[in-house]
Amino acid sequence: MLSPLVYCGPMWGGKTEGLITRLVRARIQKVGVLAFNPKANTRGEVNELRSHSGATFPAIAVASADEILERADEADVVGIDEIFMIPGIAACVRELKSRGKKIVVATLDMDSEGKVWEAVGEVLGMAEEIVKCPAVCSACKKDAYYSYRLPEAPQQRLLVGAGNYYEPRCFDCWHEGQEGKRRQKGQKTFFRTTPELP
Ligand SMILES: [Zn+2]
Repeated sequence: MLSPLVYCGPMWGGKTEGLITRLVRARIQKVGVLAFNPKANTRGEVNELRSHSGATFPAIAVASADEILERADEADVVGIDEIFMIPGIAACVRELKSRGKKIVVATLDMDSEGKVWEAVGEVLGMAEEIVKCPAVCSACKKDAYYSYRLPEAPQQRLLVGAGNYYEPRCFDCWHEGQEGKRRQKGQKTFFRTTPELP
């Protein structure tokens, strides 16, 4: 297994499903596996990973990357869900790699403004394999790589357990939504100057 292996994309893209599948595979191979879940990730029980389709895997809830490093030597494969929520995660992944662990993670890659989570960018740089997990655009049903935040949602960057405030969108539908929010606020909008390419 290439390591770190990163499943990333918007909400509802099946990232956690991919992570769980790899961890189950390692378990069948009789390889020691430990999974970690940020305490801030409130989907389902914190002591398990849970995908939108209902697949689960036992996990240890952690508040910081140090807690992962304390337990990691109990396993050869370390799985971590939603790494963008874990402070210190990039240094942690580097350390796990130097200890010879196989690392597989799942994470949102961008916030709803289309900006990469900084620590995720670092982990993507270290990754040996990256699997993009697009969802389905809620507006036009194409592949969705963006998480659009509805205008009525609270404004802090990290909004936990608030799935109702988001929808997956393709770039064009996400961009249109962002422009609409700017217009509502009387801000400058960005017109596209090139027609859509095939
Ligand atoms: Zn769309």
